[in-house]
Amino acid sequence: MKHTKRGPVVAIDGPAGTGKSSVTKRLCQALKYVHVDTGALYRVVALSCLEKRVFLRQITEDPKSRVFSPEIEKIISDLSRELHIEFKQDLSRNPSNRVILNGEDVSDRIRTAEVSMASSAVSAVSGVRASLLGLQRKLGCAGHAILEGRDIGTVIFPDADVKFFMTASVEERAKRRLSELEASGADTPSYESLLRQIAERDRSDSTRQLAPLKKADDAIEIETTKLSLDEVVAKMEKIIREKVGSA
Ligand code: C5P
Repeated sequence: MKHTKRGPVVAIDGPAGTGKSSVTKRLCQALKYVHVDTGALYRVVALSCLEKRVFLRQITEDPKSRVFSPEIEKIISDLSRELHIEFKQDLSRNPSNRVILNGEDVSDRIRTAEVSMASSAVSAVSGVRASLLGLQRKLGCAGHAILEGRDIGTVIFPDADVKFFMTASVEERAKRRLSELEASGADTPSYESLLRQIAERDRSDSTRQLAPLKKADDAIEIETTKLSLDEVVAKMEKIIREKVGSA
């Protein structure tokens, strides 16, 4: 089904750990926009695959060999089409985009390191990208939406009203992720292993053939290594207000 935009759409792309989610949450609070965390969709597909043990061996034993056989690709693609995924926005919680899979809140279960690596693997499967495209277009086309991901400005909404591409050094991103995990009380891996995981996800996200992570020509680059969250939000909010205003 073709969806037409009913209001402004903002695209925020960039690699893992650049602060897309925290920034988007704050922008949505300030501008009364809807937050669409598209990475959560790939995470849900990954969680379902892991739970159904579709490619558990490949991921846990040899995370670098992520080339699936055509049979496994078909199973993953078919599975991704069957999932019923919804978002519920609850700005008082963290993460604020609650993710409901077949009626169950899986928001916390999709945030493990295992699901992060697996989501990067399933995101390279064309059938998965195709089945998540319609949902992303539908959510964004409702208008006054900020979609954060990897290919929003290039593939999902090439017609977005404002496009950002966020960056930060890999060391800074690993440091931020570590503090986030420490603050949440979750099991914390070492800084070195986080650094490795982030670098590996960067590599697979930007070298995949399909919708690789890259800046859209007309996206505004926001380099965040030396900026605080407040500074980044203020800068981006000003740009959005100038271009499209609040809801
Ligand atoms: O943003 P997040 O880290 O939650 O995304 C998890 C994974 O989903 C990414 O590593 C990436 O491989 C994939 N992804 C994608 N396209 C998007 C959003 C996420 O391929 N628009």
